[in-house]
Amino acid sequence: MKKWVYLFGEVAAAEKYAGSWEGVRSLLGGKGAGLFDMTRAGVPVPPGFTVTTEACNEFRKTGKFPAGQWDQQLAAMKKVEKATGKKFGDPKNPLLVSCRSGAKFSMPGMMNTVLNIGLNDAVVEGLTKLTSNPRFAWDSYRRLIEMFGETVFNLDDEVFEHPMAQYKEQKGYKLDTEMTAEDWKELVSIFKAAFKKNLGFDFPQDVYKQLEQATKAVFESWMGKRAIAYRKKEEISDDLGTAVNIVTMVFGNMGDDSGTGVAFTRNPSTGDMEMMGEYLINAQGEDVVAGIRNAEPIVNLQKEMPKAYKEFMQITGRLEKHYKDVQDVEFTIERGKLWMLQTRNAKRTAKAAVKIAVDMANKGLITREQAVQRVTPDNVDSLLHPQFDIEAMNSAEKNGTFFAKGVNASPGAAVGQVYFDADKAEQMAKEEKQDTIMVRPFTKPDDVHGMIASQGVLTSEGGATSHAAVVARQFGIPCIVGASAIKIDLERRVMTVGESTVKEGDWISVDGTTGKVFIGKIPTMAPSLEEQTELLTLLKWADDISAKKDVREARAPGYPTRGLQVWANADYPKDARRARSYGAVGIGLCRTEHMFFEPERLPIVQDMILSETSQGRTEALNKLLPYQRKDFDGLFEAMDGYPVIIRLIDPPLHEFMPDEEKLLEEVITMRVKNESDGLKDKEELLAAIKGMHESNPMMGMRGVRLSIYMPEIVEMQVRAIFEAAADCTLRGIVVKPEVMIPLTGTVKELEWIQPRLERIASAVMKEKNVKFEYKFGTMIEIPRAAVTAAEVAGHAQFFSFGTNDLTQMTYGYSRDDAERNFLITYQEQGILETNPFQTIDRGGVGKLMDWAITEGRKTRPSLEVGICGEHGGDPNSIEWCHLIGNNYVSCSPFRVPIARLAAAQAALKHRPQKQASFVKSKANGRASKATPKIAKKPAKRK
Ligand code: ADP
Ligand code: MG
Ligand code: MG
Repeated sequence: MKKWVYLFGEVAAAEKYAGSWEGVRSLLGGKGAGLFDMTRAGVPVPPGFTVTTEACNEFRKTGKFPAGQWDQQLAAMKKVEKATGKKFGDPKNPLLVSCRSGAKFSMPGMMNTVLNIGLNDAVVEGLTKLTSNPRFAWDSYRRLIEMFGETVFNLDDEVFEHPMAQYKEQKGYKLDTEMTAEDWKELVSIFKAAFKKNLGFDFPQDVYKQLEQATKAVFESWMGKRAIAYRKKEEISDDLGTAVNIVTMVFGNMGDDSGTGVAFTRNPSTGDMEMMGEYLINAQGEDVVAGIRNAEPIVNLQKEMPKAYKEFMQITGRLEKHYKDVQDVEFTIERGKLWMLQTRNAKRTAKAAVKIAVDMANKGLITREQAVQRVTPDNVDSLLHPQFDIEAMNSAEKNGTFFAKGVNASPGAAVGQVYFDADKAEQMAKEEKQDTIMVRPFTKPDDVHGMIASQGVLTSEGGATSHAAVVARQFGIPCIVGASAIKIDLERRVMTVGESTVKEGDWISVDGTTGKVFIGKIPTMAPSLEEQTELLTLLKWADDISAKKDVREARAPGYPTRGLQVWANADYPKDARRARSYGAVGIGLCRTEHMFFEPERLPIVQDMILSETSQGRTEALNKLLPYQRKDFDGLFEAMDGYPVIIRLIDPPLHEFMPDEEKLLEEVITMRVKNESDGLKDKEELLAAIKGMHESNPMMGMRGVRLSIYMPEIVEMQVRAIFEAAADCTLRGIVVKPEVMIPLTGTVKELEWIQPRLERIASAVMKEKNVKFEYKFGTMIEIPRAAVTAAEVAGHAQFFSFGTNDLTQMTYGYSRDDAERNFLITYQEQGILETNPFQTIDRGGVGKLMDWAITEGRKTRPSLEVGICGEHGGDPNSIEWCHLIGNNYVSCSPFRVPIARLAAAQAALKHRPQKQASFVKSKANGRASKATPKIAKKPAKRK
C-alpha cells in the first residue's frame, strides 16, 4: 500500500522515498517540509502529519481520496492523540487541529487553511470547563464555523461578517476584544443559523466529517481561480498539487499570556541585520495579517514575555543558519509556551537580496559562489534603473501634483508628454523626438508600436496580467495599469481625477515602481554604482568566478583561455569611461557613423559623397581625418590597457544626405517662384540622391559593400585609428585597437579589402615608429558568413556576432516591422516563445553562432569571439555565449553589471563536471557539444 501520509517525525522515510530534499519539498510541500525539518531539529512544532501532494494529484484525477489515504489519516490522528495526550472529538480532553494547504512553492494567500477543527456543540462545552475560559472556547468555535463555511463551502465572507458587524453595532462595540464569552456564544448560534440558511444543512457536528471535508477543500483549492492565476503568472506548473498539513492547534487567544505573530529574521526591504516582525497578544492565526488590531513590533515582546522572546530569537537564529537564508516565520505563544508554525525563505527587494547575500558570505554562512547565485540579474537591473528622486517625489506629493495611483506593472521612472493613442504617441516620439507617455483605458496588440516608442505607459483599466502590463514588462517600459480613479475622455483628449485635468501634450511623471502618477516633471537620477558597496563586492566576486580557467582550456586547444568577459558598446569617450566604471574590460563595438553626422562634419561628408572622382573624395576625407583621429584618441585613452573594437562605416550613404522628399519640395517651390539662386546645386543634389535610391536599403549598399565600392572612406578611418593609436602609445597609453569590418558575406570581400587596410596600418606604424598590438576582424551578421566561417577566419582574427542583423537575416524579419506588426501575435499564439531580438534564438541563430565558432577555430585556434548585438546584455543569451565558447559579450554600459553577474552565473551553472565525463563526451565529438544540449532553454520551475 502506498504511503500517502507522513507524521512530522517521519522525515527520514520521506527523504528515502523522495530521494532528495528537493524531492521532499515536492512531496510534502514547502510548508510541510519546513515543519518536518524543524521537528527534526528539535524546534517546538505542534505534533501533526502531512498528506502528500501525490494524494492531491490522485484526488484531482478521480475526485476521490486514493485508496488507503483516509485510513492512514485516521491512524496518524491516533498517533497525534497519543503524542498530545488529547483525543479528537472528546469533550473531556479535546484535540483540535488545523488543516493547512502547502505547495512546493509558496503561494501566499492563494489557498485555504481551516483552524480549530474538532470543535462542536459538545466539545466547546468541554473546552470551556477544561480551560475555565469560556470566552476563548466560544471565540474558537465561531472562527471554525466561519472558516469552514468560507473555505469548505465557498460561502461569501459577508455571510458571517455582516451579522457580526450588526451584532457589534447593537452592543455598541468597536473592537473584537470587547466581545464577552456570552457574546461569542450568541454569535455561534447566529453563525450556525447563517450556515444552515445558506447551505440548507447544519454545520457538521461529526469531527471526522470536518476533517475529511477540510482535507478535500484544501485539495480543491489547488484548482481555485486565484491559485491558477497566480501559478500562471509565476510560471509554476499546475501538476505539482498541494499537500495538506494537519497540525495540532496551539492557541494564541487563551489570554494575555498568549499571542501570535509573524517575523522576518532580517529586514526584507533593506536587508539590514535586524529582526523585523509583529505580534498580537490574545489573538489567533491570521489576526496579525488581517490588521484587526494594531500589532506590536516584535522588540516589545522582549519586555512582555522575556522567556518566550529569548527562545524565539534563539530558534530563528538557528533557522537562519540552517537554511542559510533569511527566514519568514509564523509563531504562536500559548500560555507562555512558544510554538513555531512555519518557516520559509523570505521574499525580498533587490536591495535586500544583494545586501543579504554579501553579508551572509562575509559571515561565512554561504560561499561567495552561493552569494552570486542568490541575486538575479533582474535585481541588479532594478538597482541601476533611473529612479525618481525620492525627495522630489515626496515634495510633489505634498505640493498636490500627485495625480493617481494604479498597479505598479513594470518598474522604472518615466517622464513624458501625454498622448492618448498609439499612432500619435509614436509620431510625436519619432518625428518630434518628444518623450511621450501613452495613456489608454487599456491596450490591444495594435497599440504596441506606440508603447515601444514611449517612455512609459499608463492605463486606467486592467491588472498586472493585462496586455499593457505584459508588453511593458517585456520591453522594459515603466508602466502603471488599472489606475481606476482616472477618467479618460478620448473625444476631448483629456484625463481627469476629480478636479485635476491633464490634457494631451501635458507632462506627467509615471513611477512604475510604486504605481504613482504625478502631474509635471519629477527629476530622475541614475543610481550610482560607487555608492552601492555591497553590489560592487558581489560583482567583484562574480568577475573572479568568470575569470577562473576551466577544464576546457587544458583539454580543448582553441577554447577560450578564460571565462566570459564583459565588454561594452560605446561610441564616445564618456560612454567608455562609464563602461569602465561599471566594470567593462573592453569596447566590443564603437560605431563610427555618428562621427560623420556632427554639424561641422556633415557638409564635408556630403561633398565627399557627391565627388565624382576618387581624388575629390580623398580631398574631402583628408579634412575629416583629424576629427576622426581625435575621436579615437579619446577612446583609447579612456580604455587604457583594454581592447577597443572600432567598426568601420556601416550604414548606406544616403543616410548622410538630406531627405529626398523635402529637397524635392524645395526644388519645386524654387522653380514655381522662379528663384534661380542655388537652384542648380539643389537639382544636382536631388539627382544624386535619386541615383542612390535603394528599394531595400537594409540589404543594399552598406557595410563592406560600400567600402569596396568606395574604399577611400575606410582607408581614411583606418589611418585615423592607427595614427591615434600611435600617438597614444607615444604618450604611454597601452592601446589594443581592433578594426572590425561589417557585413561580410563572403571571404572574398575580406580578401579584397583587408590587405589594403593592413598596409595602411603598417605604414602608419612605420611613419610614427611605434609598435602595438592590433587585430583585423569582422562582424558575423549574415548567415552566409557564419556558414563559411572556416574560410572567413582565414582572414579575420576575430569574430563579433552582430546578432541584431543576424537575427533579422536568419528569420527574414525586419525588426521594426516585426515588433510593430506581428511579434506579439506570434508570441501569444506560441509560434515564438520569446522575442528573438531580445533573447537569442538558440535553435536557429544560436546554432549558426555555435557552428561559426567551431569552424572558425578550426582554421584559427586563437580566434577571438564576441557578441555586440543587444543580446549581449540579456542573461539568457549570455548563458548561450558562455556555452558556445565566446570570449566576451559586449553590451550597453548600463547593462555591464547585469552581464557580469549573468556571466558568472552561467559559469557556475555549467561548471565542468568531473574530468572523466568530460573525456567521454569529447570522444563523441566536440567537447562542448554536450553542454548546449542540456541547456536548450532557461531552467523553468516545474
Ligand atoms: P498561509 O499559508 O496562508 O500562511 P497557514 O496554513 O500558515 O496559511 O495558516 C494560517 C494562519 O493560521 C497562520 O497565521 C498560522 O500561523 C495559523 N495556524 C495554522 N495552524 C495553526 C495551529 N495548528 N495552531 C495555531 N495557529 C495555526
Ligand atoms: Mg502561513
Ligand atoms: Mg549590423
